[in-house]
Amino acid sequence: MVGSSSQFQQLEKLGEGTYATVYKGRNRATGALVALKEINLDSEEGTPSTAIREISLMKELDYHNIVTLYDVIHTENKLTIVFEYMDRDLKRYMEVHGNNGALDLKTVKSFMFQLLKGIMFCHDNRVLHRDLKPQNLLISNKGELKLGDFGLARAFGIPFNTFSNEVVTLWYRAPDVLLGSRAYTTSIDIWSAGCIFAEMCTGKPLFPGSANDDQLMKIFRLMGTPNERTWPGVSSYPNYKNNWQIFVPQDLRLLIPNLDSMGLNLLNSLLQMRPEARITARQALQHPWFHEINNPSPLMHHINDSQQQSQQPPQQQQPSNNGQINY
Ligand code: AMP
Repeated sequence: MVGSSSQFQQLEKLGEGTYATVYKGRNRATGALVALKEINLDSEEGTPSTAIREISLMKELDYHNIVTLYDVIHTENKLTIVFEYMDRDLKRYMEVHGNNGALDLKTVKSFMFQLLKGIMFCHDNRVLHRDLKPQNLLISNKGELKLGDFGLARAFGIPFNTFSNEVVTLWYRAPDVLLGSRAYTTSIDIWSAGCIFAEMCTGKPLFPGSANDDQLMKIFRLMGTPNERTWPGVSSYPNYKNNWQIFVPQDLRLLIPNLDSMGLNLLNSLLQMRPEARITARQALQHPWFHEINNPSPLMHHINDSQQQSQQPPQQQQPSNNGQINY
């Protein structure tokens, strides 16, 4: 035990996130395990009321594939967010269960389906994650995948430095964002999902760039250097350069030989360079690669019953406004 608050006993440190340090905790009244995410508040910036409002909104994001936010405790210099406890994050899961990090296709399919379900729910409720990566996806011992941190990226913005002074990873960032787009749309989370999909299949990050331009080059090397013909309007982006090295698109099959052609087709739809060409989470969930999950055999019904129930569409189904979310 490294400390305590009145309601929760603080146990060991679980990890260091983009915004906060996460501890395991125990509810003193019920004994239930929780994750306590502690954010030190910058005295110069005062109370981040917008952040608190955003985080409180997350309480409404009640869905099976999103980590439940139980409570927000706000003291003078610290914000503690109390989450449902999960066993490990996807990065760690791949290290422990993968073959050199690579997961078997059955697990990849189950995790992708759950990831897209969580993303769809958030997008239907006009929330973007903006920082999806394996460390932010939490896995339970039952094989459930849940999105963590939802709304924090929006509440705090995407910082360049974490509290531990690590540089925030660019690896899952969409090319339009790297090119300087500020018109954030739901498509930025879809790009991240594509990167995570490939990483689960190979055990290696798809685009491990070291800085903004290097990140773009790593993407271009595989997906081809965009031009006005392949991506009308690309030259209007703030970070566009007319002297980029020209790469032609590569076949994803060569990089991910263990993925079947249907899976490669879905991956390709997620990793479209032009944001408006990227598939939506709702469409992706209907992709034939998920046929057996969407159409379980009668024998599987009793096994899937509980999962299907918790994966009902959200009650508040709002039109997604063509994926555009205004800030
Ligand atoms: P995050 O700020 O969400 O990226 O959290 C940093 C790390 O803390 C994650 O990579 C996880 O290892 C761990 N963590 C975050 N949330 C939870 C949770 N609800 N249950 C268990 N571990 C968590």
